[in-house]
Order: sequence, then structure tokens, then C-alpha cells
Amino acid sequence: MIQQAITDLIKKIKSQDRKAIANAITLVESKKREDRKTAELLLNQLSKSNNKSIRIAISGPPGAGKSTFIEALGFEILKENRNIAVLAIDPTSSLTGGSILGDKTRMEKLSRNENAFIRPSPSGMNLGGVNRSTRESMVILESAGFDTILIETVGVGQAETEAFEMTDIFLVLLNPGAGDELQGIKRGIIELSDILVVNKSDGDLEATSRSTVLDYKNALKLLKPRINDWKVPVLSCSALELKNIDQCWITLSELRKHLEKTGQLITNREKQKKLWLDKLTKEKLIEQIENDEDFQNELEMIKETLSDKSKSVKTEASNMIENFLNKLRRQK
Ligand code: GDP
Repeated sequence: MIQQAITDLIKKIKSQDRKAIANAITLVESKKREDRKTAELLLNQLSKSNNKSIRIAISGPPGAGKSTFIEALGFEILKENRNIAVLAIDPTSSLTGGSILGDKTRMEKLSRNENAFIRPSPSGMNLGGVNRSTRESMVILESAGFDTILIETVGVGQAETEAFEMTDIFLVLLNPGAGDELQGIKRGIIELSDILVVNKSDGDLEATSRSTVLDYKNALKLLKPRINDWKVPVLSCSALELKNIDQCWITLSELRKHLEKTGQLITNREKQKKLWLDKLTKEKLIEQIENDEDFQNELEMIKETLSDKSKSVKTEASNMIENFLNKLRRQK
């Protein structure tokens, strides 16, 4: 019964039925246990990695213009008859239940285009959950034939690392006049970037933007690009006035070609797979413990007895894990 539903869903996904794609993504975002099982069945039957796709992370501080930029870039990409999907990793959604990225009306024009699919970040999920559902959504979208995947992320901490670990190219969008930002900004985001773009290069900000480009170029001299034989370019653009957006896409395409030609696309994706295996095994183990009633009961019980000074937290933790593993062994 379930299998029939999955087969039907896959057929619809392959024919780019938007509603089916959206439903499949909702399924992989669901935290319900039955949904999880169905999601795993679905994912196992969908074709995996698509070496023809281009996966780009767009990161940057809130307000740098990421949504505006993605909408502008999106239309540039559509000129090449590609299909674009935009996914968001938004760590704030887990803290507030709402999200910085999700609350605004975003990329309205692009979302109305039949060759674009925009999915805001799932709210109310921890970052681990968002990470997994974003990867799984990417599998669904690539199976559906979307060949350009943009992952939007707010440039704060863990989220950008997650985006970095599931894309081929990491583009960082910055505000002009970031001299101060350059001091304050985590060096990390610059270190991760393959392409830097200073946005809002228009009106009064144009001159500032030019000097900001130079500042970043200087800052980059001290860093080793992560991609072999690739010098990280610093571009400027105006997402609002659609200036130089074509150049941004040309540079992205050049880098994509370079990655392919040098074999780095495949090696990078293989590396990412290994990393993901590490993370996923740990995540699944934690999930098992969290869903195990006996374990949870024991945990609560032990919490009550911790005031007893003879108890050591470390020993109790080890004992609980030992009991859990013994239970699994007995079940075998
Ligand atoms: P995000 O938070 O990074 O997604 O930023 P938004 O795309 O929501 O843009 C934040 C603000 O910057 C909005 O008021 C935009 O209109 C404005 N903005 C975005 N791109 C540009 C640009 O190229 N030039 C100027 N002057 N403003 C821009």
C-alpha cells in the first residue's frame, strides 16, 4: 500500500509536479516516526547524486541583500534554460519558531516562475534537523530535474558550515563599507568563500563599494583558496538595480567548469559524503536513545537520585549506555 503511494509520488516528482515535490519535502521535514519511515523508503528509491547539477551556497549577514540577490541571479540563470531550486538553512527558525528568512515575503517574482522552486526553511527544527531535511530536499529536487540548487544561509556560525558541507561553491554576499565588518566579521566566512560579492554597489554606496572590494582583495591575499588553481574573485554588484549580476553568474559558471575539469567536483562531493556519514551515524544513534522509552525512564530516574553524593554522573552515564547496548544485543 505504502509502496504504491511511493511509486506514484516518485512518478509525479519526476514529472516535476510541484505539489508532489512540495509534499515530498514536507514528508522529509516531518519529525513523526511513521513519516520518517516513509521518507526513508522514498529517498532510497530516488536517484541519488546528480553530477550535472550545480550546488551553490549563498551566505552573508542578515540585510546584505541575499534574497534580493538570489531573485536577480535566479532570472539570470533562467536565461540559460536551467531549473532553479532555492532552499534555506536558517538557524534562527529553531530559536524563535519563526525565522529571519522565512518571515519576509521573499523572491516573489522568482517563485512564480515555472522553472523555479523556492522553499523557505522549516521552522521549529534544530539545526541538525534542518541540515538533514535540506540534504534530503536536495535529493528530491535533483531527482525532479532541478539542476541549479541555491542554498541560502544567514552568515552566522554553524549554519554556514552546514551549507558549506553540502554545496560545490560557497558565495559570500557582503555589504559595502565593510571595513569595520572586516574587523568584526568572523574570519571564518571569508575563509570559506570561493567567490566574494559586495552588494549594493549603487547610488551613494558605489564609491564605498569600490574601496570595500579592495579591502577584501587585500584581506584575501593572506588566505589560501580552498579550491586548487582558483583565485577567489571579489566582485561588486547591485541586486536592486540588476548591475553586474550577469558577471556573478558567469563567474559561478566558470568556477563550476573549473571544478569539473580538475576533478575537484567529484572529490569534494565524495569528501562531503564521508563527513555526512560521520554526522548521520551519530545523529541516528542519538535519535535511537531519544526514542527509547526504557532509556528515557532510566535517565529520568537517575536524575532524581543525583543529589546522592556517592553517585558520579560519569559512571551513571556509562552504565546507562551499557544497559542500552545490552538491550540492543538481547534484541538481536
Ligand atoms: P537579506 O536579509 O540578506 O536576505 O537581505 P534582503 O534581500 O532582504 O535585503 C535587505 C535590504 O537591503 C532590503 O531593504 C533591500 O531592498 C536592500 N537591498 C538589497 N539589495 C540591494 C542593492 O543592491 N542595493 C541597495 N541599495 N539596497 C539593496
